[in-house]
Amino acid sequence: MVTRLVLVLGDQLSEGLSALRAADKDRDIVVMAEVAEEAGYVPHHPKKIAFLFAAMRKFAQRLQDAGWRVAYTRLDDTDNSGAICGELLRRAAEHDATGVIATQPGEWRLIGALSEMPLKLHIIRDDRFIASADAFEAWAKDKKQLRMEYFYREMRRKTGLLMEGEQPAGGKWNYDHDNRKPAPDDVKFEGPLMFEPDNAVEEVLDLVAARFGGNFGALRPFWFATDRDQALAQLDHWIKGGLTEFGDYQDAMLADRPFMYHSLISLYINAGLLDPLEVCQKVEAAWQAGKAPLNAAEGFIRQIIGWREYVRGIWYREGPDYTRRNILNHSNDLPSMYWGAPTDMRCISQTVAQTRDQAYAHHIQRLMVTGNFALLAGIDPWQVHEWYLAVYADAYEWVEAPNVIGMSLFADGGIIASKPYVSSGNYIDRMSDYCGGCAYKVKDKTGPKACPFNLLYWHFLIRHRDRFSSNPRMGQMYATWDRMDVERRKTVLRDADTFLAKMQAGDRI
Ligand SMILES: Cc1cc2nc3c(=O)[nH]c(=O)nc-3n(C[C@H](O)[C@H](O)[C@H](O)COP(=O)(O)OP(=O)(O)OC[C@H]3O[C@@H](n4cnc5c(N)ncnc54)[C@H](O)[C@@H]3O)c2cc1C
Ligand code: SF4
Repeated sequence: MVTRLVLVLGDQLSEGLSALRAADKDRDIVVMAEVAEEAGYVPHHPKKIAFLFAAMRKFAQRLQDAGWRVAYTRLDDTDNSGAICGELLRRAAEHDATGVIATQPGEWRLIGALSEMPLKLHIIRDDRFIASADAFEAWAKDKKQLRMEYFYREMRRKTGLLMEGEQPAGGKWNYDHDNRKPAPDDVKFEGPLMFEPDNAVEEVLDLVAARFGGNFGALRPFWFATDRDQALAQLDHWIKGGLTEFGDYQDAMLADRPFMYHSLISLYINAGLLDPLEVCQKVEAAWQAGKAPLNAAEGFIRQIIGWREYVRGIWYREGPDYTRRNILNHSNDLPSMYWGAPTDMRCISQTVAQTRDQAYAHHIQRLMVTGNFALLAGIDPWQVHEWYLAVYADAYEWVEAPNVIGMSLFADGGIIASKPYVSSGNYIDRMSDYCGGCAYKVKDKTGPKACPFNLLYWHFLIRHRDRFSSNPRMGQMYATWDRMDVERRKTVLRDADTFLAKMQAGDRI
């Protein structure tokens, strides 16, 4: 029988992966490769690269222990061709293989490259996602607007999670209303488990320091889990200590508590170390055992079987050009403060510093601080997309692009968000402790010390009045503007223009 190659990518580290299930241990060879092309198409955070290489090496060992033959390429191997397709061709020649079995990748770039290879390719659906592309299409096809909430209800019915027969547990599908508490004075949860690097991880850290040390981001201290057992330990640790308050403080931000009550598991789920359904079942079990309130369990499960599945469906449905969408024609350059240049905006400097140190920021920091600013300031969505893809340890195109291009920047014209997620400084002030120590004044609406979010909020709404004034959810904002004194309106727009000119000139803002 002819040998086939079984491709396992860095975000496919699951023993139950569909490609592995379709293969034969006695006949086929697993191909895994650390390649420059994948590590370098955006300047990934060093912690992200180290996490993936370390987790890949440990997973390869696990497969070998389970009886698989694994052809593993290390980044510094002399015959490393530098690309996934190059490695497949090299291994095909070595083993006389003509076919490749692969689970569908989560990047269009890679899907395109694989399909052009002169090898027989068998791509299998990634069934670690609960909704297949066909199921998502069947749900989406006749709808004018694709609202996550309705998709989520389908997923609840399909999985049976938090269901009492046909009805949602507790009588309501969604407890978000209870989940918007401002930042507490103190956070009781101590944060994620931090794992001491073992020798295998240390070896990877040295490699990454030598090859990617110049990328934005601190490599050390490195504390991520790098295998399934550690990832499971983190999940259990968070369910015990963080889940109870997760719902209440999901949107809150505190300068010295980067992790708040968040689970820090997206990087592990996305790489395949944890299964999304098992994660939700454990959270449901905690609620059933009386160890977590319903608003927390529901809020969390909605993020995974709702948002996570929904963005995957949108990404696949919208196709390869999605990352290039720019319906609002925004073209300003991403300011250097996103790469750590000094800024007087405390909310941005805190979020960026945390991103630099941990390759992590939680949802509201990504959406309402860095995302909100990028949208209000008219930054080119492609540049914003590349930044998010590079700096977060959990970022892969299928999940990052819908969140950035769609949810955060409205660059897809409203496929994901029914209205742009924009706010003045008031929202950040209410949900965080950032504003107190900021050089700008959140209460100032005009003048040199006015919070930039206050100025840009109106500038954005007026720039795009034609598009948004008829949106029923935005009428109130335009009515407020129209009631404002004419001179005040002129001052707001003039001060916003001055701020944007400064930003575009590369001056400190
Ligand atoms: C602009 C922007 C960019 C984002 N980029 C990414 C990204 O590249 N990769 C990524 O995994 N998530 C991304 N998200 C979603 C979300 O911010 C992260 O999943 C979350 O912050 C991860 O941290 P956590 O594990 O502590 O999550 P928690 O707050 O503990 O949430 C639990 C889980 O829910 C899932 N989840 C929550 N929200 C979303 C969402 N909107 N889309 C998909 N899954 C979600 C994640 O798996 C997460 O682990 C982005 C959100 C925004 C607004
Ligand atoms: S005042 Fe404005 S810029 Fe400063 S931290 Fe608050 S929201 Fe951010």
